[in-house]
Amino acid sequence: MNKSPDGKPNKYDALVVLVVLALAAALGARVWFAPKSPAAELVVSVGNTECERIPFDDTEREYTNNGYTVHLAVTPDGAWVDHADCPTQDCVRTGVISRPGQSIVCLPARIVIAVEGAEESGWDAIAG
Ligand SMILES: [Zn+2]
Repeated sequence: MNKSPDGKPNKYDALVVLVVLALAAALGARVWFAPKSPAAELVVSVGNTECERIPFDDTEREYTNNGYTVHLAVTPDGAWVDHADCPTQDCVRTGVISRPGQSIVCLPARIVIAVEGAEESGWDAIAG
């Protein structure tokens, strides 16, 4: 039953190591070449005017319009309004947006923060 009584690596062990290394390399390459949100960015509109496009990097912004101030937090994983002085707080309750098509709307301040991006095809299915 014991294939390697002396514990020395044999050809089979070397093959296993090679396969594991190849799999690790393939997985690493896939992660490297397949970011989850290719070219997605935030589009901010104040009033009815698009005022800014923000990439998903660590940053923060503050927008004041119609007497209200909305504070936006941005990270590579998503963006959210962490505080605002509007009466409804809907924008704060919306939470994190990260995928194309999602948006945060602050009606009192008339501010819309939307995610726009390249094709969203397939990535969800691949990533689960
Ligand atoms: Zn609001």
